Amino acid sequence: MKIGVFALQGAFIEHERAFSALGAECGEIRCRADFTGAFDGVVLPGGESTVQGKLLREEGLFAPLREAIEGGLPVFGTCAGLILLAKRLTNDANVWLATMDVTVRRNAYGRQLGSFRAETEVKGIGKFPAVFIRAPYIEEAGAAETLATVDGKVVAARQGHMLATAFHPELTDDLRVHAYFLKMIEGKA
Ligand code: GLN
Repeated sequence: MKIGVFALQGAFIEHERAFSALGAECGEIRCRADFTGAFDGVVLPGGESTVQGKLLREEGLFAPLREAIEGGLPVFGTCAGLILLAKRLTNDANVWLATMDVTVRRNAYGRQLGSFRAETEVKGIGKFPAVFIRAPYIEEAGAAETLATVDGKVVAARQGHMLATAFHPELTDDLRVHAYFLKMIEGKA
């Protein structure tokens, strides 16, 4: 199993650690030449969505990535990655890849709660320690299935081959969300 991890900006190394620990091979994607057909799935990490979106465009990765996801390439977006996948953003003029039918609010928890931990229950996984950093949440899950909520807000969702979390499973030692994505790729979740 080979996972392509977008490594333009943000917390990508932590995803590589998690997938490597689960026995998957990882390749970093920084430029168009790195984005080959060799990947079984790709990861859009946390970081800053506006910067990442611009870099995807500058590197000529934006259209090929979007096409690949629309063609069925499994994708896992965390935090900024969720923002990049969303079809609608409530408080931002940008929309990026727009492949996932969710409405997302950026920096949704305000300044005081810039960063926090909460226990959530992820469907198909169980109780999970969720780490939020200037996190968005999903205001409307549309055609996506809600996998987890915190205080009534949707923080994880899946739409077919697309998985997204508002929190950062890669910043915990708990590998179950990453394992879930690998199972998803295999058609077993
Ligand atoms: N606040 C960031 C954004 O809007 C996302 C934060 C994160 O990825 N930890 O892009």
